[in-house]
Amino acid sequence: MMKCPVCGSRSFVRTSEELTPTVRQLYYYCGNIACSMTWKSMLSIVAVISPSGISPEFRLPHIEETKPPGHEYGQMSLLDLCRDGGDDPPA
Ligand SMILES: [Zn+2]
Repeated sequence: MMKCPVCGSRSFVRTSEELTPTVRQLYYYCGNIACSMTWKSMLSIVAVISPSGISPEFRLPHIEETKPPGHEYGQMSLLDLCRDGGDDPPA
């Protein structure tokens, strides 16, 4: 159960839609009538703990790392800077 991020009241899933077999979009509403905030949330499988007995070869889809804006000019992402210890970007 997700609490309302504004008032902390109990919230409810009104509906949901399947985006992919491993990702679902949930539509929440706050149960506090004075607040009544609504929002969207994502539900996804992040890891397989135990493989399926029917199809043990199932693997989660690989999410490709996206390139940050400016990478074509040699600009490094903060993630790259943290990984490489902050060295100068390649010329
Ligand atoms: Zn609320």
